[in-house]
Amino acid sequence: MNMNRRNALKVGAVSAAAVAATTLTGCTGGETGTAAAANAGKVLGKHKVVIIGGGFGGLTVANNLKKIDKNFDVAVIEKNDTFMACPVSNTYLGKLEGMDLGKFIFDYAQPVEKHGYSMLKSEVIAIDRVAKTVTTAAGIVQYEILVLSPGIAYNYTGQFPTWTKSHAAAVQRACPPAMIPGSEHVALERQLMNMDDGDVIIAAPSGKFRCPPAPYERAAMIASYMKKEDINGKVIVLVPGAKFAKMGAFKESAKDLFGDKIVYMHHTAVTDVDLKAKVLHFNQQVPTGKKDEDGDMIMKTVKKSHKYQVCNLIVNHKASPVVQMAGLNTTADAFKKVKMAGCTFQTQTDKDVYAVGDIVGHAIPPSGQTAVWAGIQCAKEIAHRLHGKSYTLPVKTKSVKAGNVCFSMVGDGPEEGIMVTHDFSWTGKVIKGKGHVPKAPSGKYRSKNTAKALRDWYRGIMSDLFA
Ligand SMILES: Cc1cc2nc3c(=O)[nH]c(=O)nc-3n(C[C@H](O)[C@H](O)[C@H](O)COP(=O)(O)OP(=O)(O)OC[C@H]3O[C@@H](n4cnc5c(N)ncnc54)[C@H](O)[C@@H]3O)c2cc1C
Repeated sequence: MNMNRRNALKVGAVSAAAVAATTLTGCTGGETGTAAAANAGKVLGKHKVVIIGGGFGGLTVANNLKKIDKNFDVAVIEKNDTFMACPVSNTYLGKLEGMDLGKFIFDYAQPVEKHGYSMLKSEVIAIDRVAKTVTTAAGIVQYEILVLSPGIAYNYTGQFPTWTKSHAAAVQRACPPAMIPGSEHVALERQLMNMDDGDVIIAAPSGKFRCPPAPYERAAMIASYMKKEDINGKVIVLVPGAKFAKMGAFKESAKDLFGDKIVYMHHTAVTDVDLKAKVLHFNQQVPTGKKDEDGDMIMKTVKKSHKYQVCNLIVNHKASPVVQMAGLNTTADAFKKVKMAGCTFQTQTDKDVYAVGDIVGHAIPPSGQTAVWAGIQCAKEIAHRLHGKSYTLPVKTKSVKAGNVCFSMVGDGPEEGIMVTHDFSWTGKVIKGKGHVPKAPSGKYRSKNTAKALRDWYRGIMSDLFA
């Protein structure tokens, strides 16, 4: 194979299938610094629509654009060879039946073959919105319309400003957050497999983060695993605030199924980790018993430490650096979501740049299901534009029921799940979501039917994306 074509996007008459073979089998996406430097300045091709990120949001936009019009010229840029799904991955940690690693890993050959878009496996390192170019380690790609769905990054510097880079890296290795697709889930699973009697700590992030119920589903799945394996110890969940997603439902299930095995400690903030001693240091705000003039309880900070066997330090999240590369207006909070141009997926900053997935600046929950919903809407918007028509979200209803449905597994033997649904509406400046956590007919939040629905949902969404 010609080395110059090894990473090239579809250009001119080369078919998508041929490109799939070229880019999917030839390119590992792991360009060395020297190769990346050699590729700097090399123009690989131009595409009408270029999508950054081959995850839930990005692939949905690509698949749906090609479903609407197979002649659309669409290319996806993705840094990884394979995609690893985060949804339902906590059941892999809980060792639920059939939930092995293979259930979570997908390759891009099938969607590329089926829908006929192009795919470049390379990391995006710069974006020039004036020149309308995306620079990757493999070379430059030109675009007319750009869609961003690069997901999240961890914010170690924001949360722990006094830590050195090497300490943060060591903590990330030893206490993997496992919120970004990849090897951290495997590392966490290995640690659980090898643990002795003792406690597991899960420190939940604060601020905006992807899949707000995920840390608490993880606690249930790890407690279930420890129970099955007869491991003596507790799951200590450090919660930053007074509340968390689906709290009533999680706490009810935890009490019924695991007694006092899961311990929730509220108003906590991690300060440091002693990796040698395996001790986590944190502060907790506790009531003093005295009230201020407004009648609110006065709190005091107490320093605490806890020894762990396994520590899942889920650090705070922020939008992927790709958002900064694009120089888009973002929200003022630490996450920095992309500001949108109203109830649309076009960004406020640039009418030729769209955003979907976790980075989107609407008031809707950051989930895979939401990313898919947004991706379908975004594809419709772009397709109308390419066909010379205008498009707005359905104006008559101005809402959609259950735009997001998010399941969490809370027990095994029998499997039981809980859920939250979000109705989306667009009567104001941004798209909004309103959540509802339903109870099962038994009067409890959890049910076997919801656990089954979780498995069905996962099979369905992954086959829509990758089959
Ligand atoms: C433990 C856990 C459980 C979850 N459970 C659920 C659930 O039950 N239901 C649900 O709906 N959601 C769930 N989620 C949330 C869901 O995974 C995310 O909300 C969803 O993945 C967001 O989609 P996205 O497209 O924004 O990002 P992603 O799906 O992460 O895709 C981003 C892609 O961009 C690529 N990328 C990033 N930077 C670059 C770059 N510089 N160059 C090239 N490519 C790049 C990445 O490699 C990645 O493939 C869960 C998440 C976690 C962590």
